[in-house]
Formats: sequence, structure tokens, C-alpha cells
Amino acid sequence: MTPVIALVGRPNVGKSTLFNRLTRSRDALVADFPGLTRDRKYGNGMLGDKVYTVIDTGGISGDEDGIDAVMAEQSLAAIDEADIVLFMVDGRAGLIAADQAIANHLRVNQKKTWLVVNKTDGLEEHSAMGDFWSLGLGEPWPIAAAHGRNVSTLIDVVLEPF
Ligand code: GDP
Ligand code: MG
Repeated sequence: MTPVIALVGRPNVGKSTLFNRLTRSRDALVADFPGLTRDRKYGNGMLGDKVYTVIDTGGISGDEDGIDAVMAEQSLAAIDEADIVLFMVDGRAGLIAADQAIANHLRVNQKKTWLVVNKTDGLEEHSAMGDFWSLGLGEPWPIAAAHGRNVSTLIDVVLEPF
């Protein structure tokens, strides 16, 4: 079974940048997903001898009231389809209320969820991580998707059980 990784989080945190990095060595769009929509993008990638599928989502707005609105339908669908959820936040913007709302949903989800703090290039890693522990999703993983910093280390760890 090929593990499926969903990228979720607010718009502009770097989901598509990470998607492109994780899938760029493989060009295939995965066609065998029921309910494939334009709101979600599917790609395959490989690390070492492990193949994985990644789902990019358009982003959760966070502007609306209520958890259903915050967790946009396509993000919920992507989480449903996934074995692993990478919840991305922006290390430069810091922790904001919308991140907390999304985390509240993810904490009660059954899927294995990793808290990924992007855009840590030029930031001091440890101080930048401080706030994000309060999301209750365990250890925050600093990466810089645009530069590849820590990306393969993260994917290696999340794929370990597969
Ligand atoms: P999405 O809306 O979550 O898909 O975010 P995008 O992937 O479109 O990225 C939003 C913006 O953040 C773009 O301008 C990216 O170039 C920028 N970005 C993404 N990753 C990084 C990173 O690791 N470091 C920095 N400094 N900027 C990044
Ligand atoms: Mg995007």
C-alpha cells in the first residue's frame, strides 16, 4: 500500500511549495482516487525506496466562524483519504487564531498528524518553535519548503511506519 500524505493548513503557509518539492521527481497525477476534484491536487514522490502519494489542498480560510467552515470541505476530504496529515503553519507569521481552530479539529482526528512549521529559513529554529507547542499536536517540525531545509528528514520520519 502506498502511504498517502495530506498537506493542510491556512492559505499561504507553503503547502503547494512543499507539494512541488515532494513530487517534482515524479510527474504522475494520481488518477485512481474516487471524487478527484480540482480543489485537491495529487502527486507521487519517492524517498529512498519508498513511494508515497501527496495531496495538496487549496487551504483552509480561517475567516469564517465555526469549525465546519474553518475546515473547508476539501481539506476534510483530503484528511479522509490520507494515512498521514502534515498540518502546516507559518513560522514567520507565528501562531494565529486560525491555526488554533484547525488544530482543535486535527487533535480529535484519527489520522496521524504532524505539526510542520514552514518558512524557518533565517529564523532561529528553537525560539521560532516555542509558540507552536501550545497547539497540542506534539513536537513542531521546522522546515523551509522553498529551500528544502529538513524536508527529507521529516518525510523519512513520517514514512517510518510504512
Ligand atoms: P499555500 O497557499 O499554502 O499553497 O502556499 P504557497 O506554497 O503558495 O506559498 C506561499 C508563499 O510562501 C509563496 O510566496 C512562497 O514562495 C512562500 N514560501 C513557501 N515556502 C517558503 C519557505 O520555506 N520560506 C520562505 N521564506 N517562503 C516560503
Ligand atoms: Mg497552494
